[in-house]
Amino acid sequence: MSVLSPLTPPPRLLMGPGPINCYPRVLSAMATQLVGQYDPVMTGYMNEVMALYRDVFNTKNQQTFLVDGTSRAGIEAVLVSAIEPGDKVLVPIFGRFGHLLAEIAERADADVHTIEVPWGEVFTAADIEKAIQEVQPKMLAIVQGDTSTTMLQPLEEIGSICEAHDVLFYCDATASVGGNPLKVDEWKLDAVSVGLQKCLGGPSGSAPITLSDKFVKTVRTRHHVEAGIRDAHHESARGPKIRSNYFDLPMIMDYWGEERLNHHTEAASMLYCARECARVHLEEGQENVIARHKVAGDAMLAGVQAMGLAPFGDLKHKMYNVVGVYIPDDVDGEAVREALLLRFNIEIGTSFGPLKGKIWRIGTMGYNAREDAVLHTLQSLETVLRMQGMTLPQGAGVDAALAVFTEAAND
Ligand SMILES: *Cc1c(COP(=O)(O)O)cnc(C)c1O
Repeated sequence: MSVLSPLTPPPRLLMGPGPINCYPRVLSAMATQLVGQYDPVMTGYMNEVMALYRDVFNTKNQQTFLVDGTSRAGIEAVLVSAIEPGDKVLVPIFGRFGHLLAEIAERADADVHTIEVPWGEVFTAADIEKAIQEVQPKMLAIVQGDTSTTMLQPLEEIGSICEAHDVLFYCDATASVGGNPLKVDEWKLDAVSVGLQKCLGGPSGSAPITLSDKFVKTVRTRHHVEAGIRDAHHESARGPKIRSNYFDLPMIMDYWGEERLNHHTEAASMLYCARECARVHLEEGQENVIARHKVAGDAMLAGVQAMGLAPFGDLKHKMYNVVGVYIPDDVDGEAVREALLLRFNIEIGTSFGPLKGKIWRIGTMGYNAREDAVLHTLQSLETVLRMQGMTLPQGAGVDAALAVFTEAAND
């Protein structure tokens, strides 16, 4: 076999719902030389990563660390570690990733109960409280921002409801963290897992998580529940042991803790990368990063609307970092995406399930939550739509977006 040429990917601008282009500093950090995993330099880096992500998550939780793997590694670690066969888990579903939480909980042999709203909407706290009263679950598992619908589920009031009913409150905030507010302690979340490839501006492959003391106690004591108080369902053939070695959170906590008990070999390059994502985020300042995502998201929305395109879903609950755009009648949505990609080097997203073929999803996340990225995308989209035979007001999208950026700069 011939030795292939070095990697030279085209300089794409990734304006879909994730992954996105990395912050250049994050790319550099990943290329840093390795040290051994029990080298005090490395264990020092691990402690720094724990401290940095406590700030990203707005928490004092000691147990804040990385699960090695893509975002669903974090989801799976939380669910597989907390759920014993037969445990009731309530999953409110408002998009594709709610179905993923339900699917993973089912594989952990949970007794899964779901409630749903139509795609493009979110739940009220009262909807969730009612379902908690009916189901009386051990855990509520919900997504904060579901990129499949672009909706952001308000979480502020749910923590107190869970607390009152003694329910563990878990959230997958992969798509929303870093671009929308997320206050783990204030909102009384017991477990949160995320990824780097959305607003944190890194590649996929590391899943930061944070666990409350209550959650930690639950997963640490599950092996020691008295046999006598288990009901028949709990005494399943496979027993109460956490099914996964790789995702066994007590073992991973002991690895990140003082004892440094060996578990996996830490994915050091991803740890460097996660460390730099958090540094970029905190150096710019959490409020400032979120404001930058809001302005870029508002500008993209104003731009597509000024072009005469219709946005998807309940705009009051749209994530700052992604917008759904209805594909106009008589336009071939996939041909538009292909022309944007191959002629303009810009990627935008397609969609799934009930929205397949109906909307595009355009993201403004992390490094790409930038004025020039928004303007290039809108201008290119206008040109491509014209190539498809649409008549559009010349430059209206760019002008509307520019006005949003100018107003934000003058505030
Ligand atoms: C993008 C996204 C993920 C991604 O999971 P991976 O395992 O990294 O592919 C998970 N959850 C939500 C809510 C997301 O938006």
